[in-house]
Amino acid sequence: MIETLQLDLAVQTLDRALTSEARRLGANLVHGHVSGCENPAAVYNRGLRKGIRGLGKPPDFYRKVHISTGSLADYVAVNHLVDLTQAGPDGVEEALLNAFLSRILREGTLPVPAGNLGSPESPFFPTSGVLLRFNPMKRTGDYRADRGGTGMLFDADAIMAAAHHAVERCRIVNPDVAIGLILCFGRDLSHSVNRKLAEKIRKWRKLYSSIVGIDVAGDERAMTLSESTDLDEMAECFEIAAGNGGEEFPRTGHCGETNAIDVATLCATVTRLKLIHVAHPIFPIKASWSGDDRALRLMSDLNVVAELCFGSNMRTGTIASPAEFGRVLKTLDDWGIRYCFDTDNPELLRTTLALDLATLLLAGAITPEQIENAFRTAHECAFFRRLRAA
Ligand SMILES: [Zn+2]
Repeated sequence: MIETLQLDLAVQTLDRALTSEARRLGANLVHGHVSGCENPAAVYNRGLRKGIRGLGKPPDFYRKVHISTGSLADYVAVNHLVDLTQAGPDGVEEALLNAFLSRILREGTLPVPAGNLGSPESPFFPTSGVLLRFNPMKRTGDYRADRGGTGMLFDADAIMAAAHHAVERCRIVNPDVAIGLILCFGRDLSHSVNRKLAEKIRKWRKLYSSIVGIDVAGDERAMTLSESTDLDEMAECFEIAAGNGGEEFPRTGHCGETNAIDVATLCATVTRLKLIHVAHPIFPIKASWSGDDRALRLMSDLNVVAELCFGSNMRTGTIASPAEFGRVLKTLDDWGIRYCFDTDNPELLRTTLALDLATLLLAGAITPEQIENAFRTAHECAFFRRLRAA
């Protein structure tokens, strides 16, 4: 997103904008998907090794995964292909190790051809925490309900054990970085598969300290949760996974990335699923610009944190410009709603947190104070508190 000629300016601008407090806190990366945080070469090679159908020739694969524009549905379709390469215990373990490495080395750098400024050895800011989210059921084989798939080619318990093992190995070599997993339910999965996952999460949480929270993700149009039965069923899954609300177990949810989610649906989803974070609640925020501020009022009242991913929102057309993203931030600030920044699928989007921030700074869409506050919010959020307390 930054032209080569602007590079010097980007470096200087980002360097100036990062306060000493922001650098001290470093980036606590709350929101990254395993499917989008792995280098495409590694994904392709593993897909080749496994004989995954639909990879195509390398240039075609790169064109497909390096999404430049498109809808959320295009984005999710790519994730499905990547998920298949990551299927099985070996695939999950390798994918997680690659994803952790990428997040620790890349996010504080500007990934540009000329010079790789803010190199992995001296990033603009360190990575202090990494959470990766994924859906174990989507790593069991061909799972998609709309294709008649039930998954279960691979054993979900074996997949989770491999995922935890990957986290343990990363913790050994990165003792200063808080590392954990958020497990996602799927809007594109049947209720029976989501429910099976819920029961497994409840069991896994007793075994694996790496699991720090739950999420719901996938194409919003596949299940908007505007139907009360769908929402009841998803709420039931959240309750089972979280232990019937008997103890604090952080919950986040993707909600509002497309106009399929209206304000009333976002409010019902946040309330019923007891979300403490909401990911990409962009359309409900924008609704306030035309007078409907119910979503903001609820998020403010319940102290819900917004997980924001600028680069991802630009690619899916969820926001039109850096200036519009700046307006989203200003709206949240006006309501006293806290937010954090992340990159969602940085490898597939060919972005990093440093690049997203530099782009926003160059556009005059963000202030040093907003960056520092977002870094602090991520540092203090319940998902990382849980990890640091462990
Ligand atoms: Zn996401």
